[in-house]
Amino acid sequence: MKICVLPGDGIGPEIMAEAVRVLDALALGCELERGLLGGGAVDATGDPYPEATRKLARAADAVLLGAVGGPKWDALPREQRPERGLLGIRKELGLFANLRPAILYPELANASTLKPEVVAGLDILIVRELTGDIYFGQPRGIEVRDGERYGFNTMHYTESEIRRIGRVAFEAARRRNRRLCSVDKMNVLETTQLWRDVMTELAPEYPDVELSHMLVDNAAMQLVRAPKQFDVIVTGNMFGDILSDEASMLTGSIGMLPSASLDERNKGLYEPCHGSAPDIAGKGVANPLATILSVAMMLRYSFGLEEAAQRVEAAVKRVLAQGYRTGDIHEPGTRRVGTREMGDAVLAAL
Ligand code: NAD
Repeated sequence: MKICVLPGDGIGPEIMAEAVRVLDALALGCELERGLLGGGAVDATGDPYPEATRKLARAADAVLLGAVGGPKWDALPREQRPERGLLGIRKELGLFANLRPAILYPELANASTLKPEVVAGLDILIVRELTGDIYFGQPRGIEVRDGERYGFNTMHYTESEIRRIGRVAFEAARRRNRRLCSVDKMNVLETTQLWRDVMTELAPEYPDVELSHMLVDNAAMQLVRAPKQFDVIVTGNMFGDILSDEASMLTGSIGMLPSASLDERNKGLYEPCHGSAPDIAGKGVANPLATILSVAMMLRYSFGLEEAAQRVEAAVKRVLAQGYRTGDIHEPGTRRVGTREMGDAVLAAL
């Protein structure tokens, strides 16, 4: 298990230190190699995704990433921006499946803007296709036609692209509550009619998973009306972009949410959903739990170590139940701790 560790910028190094301590404590025999990505990489080499990091990422079985970016690098030309490094590594590794759980631990139900009874105990997983759809379709552009500006994009999916993301979603549902909802807009868009057809054709291969379909406008509504009806949602790149942000905001605590992006061989890039939080960087107050939960996802999806993944998740649940809170999730009556202390608490719970 060779892991490429990229702490990145801002709070990245602080939260990654805690995630690595958790990984070490599990004593699974992982081999860690560190590299530079983002602003720090620009400062050191002039390139946000330097060749040395490319080599490490290619050779690794999984990549663990903190976060990149910050005001220091915002004025750089586009190709030197830290975000370029992130897009570069995602593209080069062929990461087509993005998995984003939205979990709201009962102890944090007040963090959501929705009523606690609607969201307490929420546990859903959004599987988003990441390399196709209208975001990458050609032709695209803005032209002048018939004397006025004309903007156009192309939505397309091949059946093999739909099948491969479908398989990831069915497999993920198998590891959870065995319910999969495929989201499309088949009443208007032919591409998504094909999406629905291919998902339906796949279903007999997974008789233990219950497949349903929902139109995207209804799914957006149901996510705020009664989100606990879902287990796993699978959808295309554009709908997934929007729905996964909507779902993560149901929880109200960005410092808690991990993510995984997988290739065809389950090699993955694991990172928290949040950014580099420059406003609190270097202060030792960032919440490391999203990164620690990203470690759990890595153990589950890239290494098949379900039991170790559950141990990490159980440890996080336990520290929340014990009342430990970083500033972002703190409420009166709970114990406010910094990044390192939260890491200590997770290690103790492990
Ligand atoms: P952000 O997620 O970094 O921060 C938004 C707010 O949430 C801030 O108030 C921040 O303090 C807080 N926050 C975020 N993570 C936290 C944590 N773990 N613990 C406690 N509080 C936390 O988003 P932003 O401010 O829009 O972006 C800051 C920088 O991060 C930008 O340069 C942006 O480009 C970059 N960014 C990187 C990624 C990534 O690396 N994947 C993702 C999003 C943004």
